Amino acid sequence: MAAQTHLFKCLSDNYGVLIHDPATGATAAIDAPEAWAVDAALKETGWTLTDILVTHHHGDHTGGVVELKERHGCKVTAPRHEKQPIPAVDATVVEGDTVKVGTLTAKVLDTPGHTAGHIAYVFPADKVAFVGDTLFSIGCGRVIECTPDVMWASLLKLRALPDDTRIYCGHEYTLANIKFALTIEPDNPALKARAAEAEKQVAAGKPTIPVSLGEEKRANPFLRADVPVVATAVKMSGKPAAEVFAEVRERKNRF
Ligand SMILES: [Zn+2]
Repeated sequence: MAAQTHLFKCLSDNYGVLIHDPATGATAAIDAPEAWAVDAALKETGWTLTDILVTHHHGDHTGGVVELKERHGCKVTAPRHEKQPIPAVDATVVEGDTVKVGTLTAKVLDTPGHTAGHIAYVFPADKVAFVGDTLFSIGCGRVIECTPDVMWASLLKLRALPDDTRIYCGHEYTLANIKFALTIEPDNPALKARAAEAEKQVAAGKPTIPVSLGEEKRANPFLRADVPVVATAVKMSGKPAAEVFAEVRERKNRF
C-alpha cells in the first residue's frame, strides 16, 4: 500500500511531515522541530507515532525529540556522522543503510554540507524524498560545516533521483529563494513558471512543497551550477561546476 504523508508548519518557517504506512499503521515524523506541533498533526490524522527520522542535529529539527519519545515511546533514528549530539537516539544510520517504517522502506543518503553528517531519507517505492536542509525549493541550505564542493556533491546525489520524486524540505523559503534565483537566471521559463505557481500557493495560504525533482532541476540554480547559462551569469564560464556553485551560494549569502 502506498505511503500517506501529512505536511504541517511549525516554529517560524519550519516544516514538519509525517509519513504513514496504511498496512501496519506505522508513522514516522521526519525531524521533530517542536513536540506540540507533531502531536497536533498526529491528532489531526489519527495516526500513532512509531518513529522519528532525524536529518541533522540543528535544534529546529530536533527540539521535540525527547518529549515525543517520552510520550510515544517511538524509535529515534539519526545520522551517524554528526559532530553535535542528537538526543535520545536509538539507531544511527549512514548511506547504504535502509530504514523501515512499517512496510515502507527508506534508503539513506549522506548529504553533508549544511552539517557534516546531514542525511536524506528516500522512499523509492513511494517516490518521495525528505532532504532536510540540504535542498530547498529553488534554493539549498547554508554551507555551514563543510566546504561548498562537499555540498555540491550532495546536491548532485539528490539530483540523480528520478524526476518524479516528490521533494520535502525543512523550511518554507521558496519565495525568497525565487527572488534570488531570478538574479541568476532571469530568462529561465521554468523558473518564471515556478515563481507564478509559488506566488499563487503562498497567496492562498498553501505550502509550496512538495515539489517534483524534475521541476527543481529545471528551475533551481543550485542544481544547475554545471549549466553554462548559470556559469555565465556569475562570470565563471568554463570553470568547474563546484566553483560555480560556491559563487552562486556566496551571492545568496550576501543577497
Ligand atoms: Zn539546519
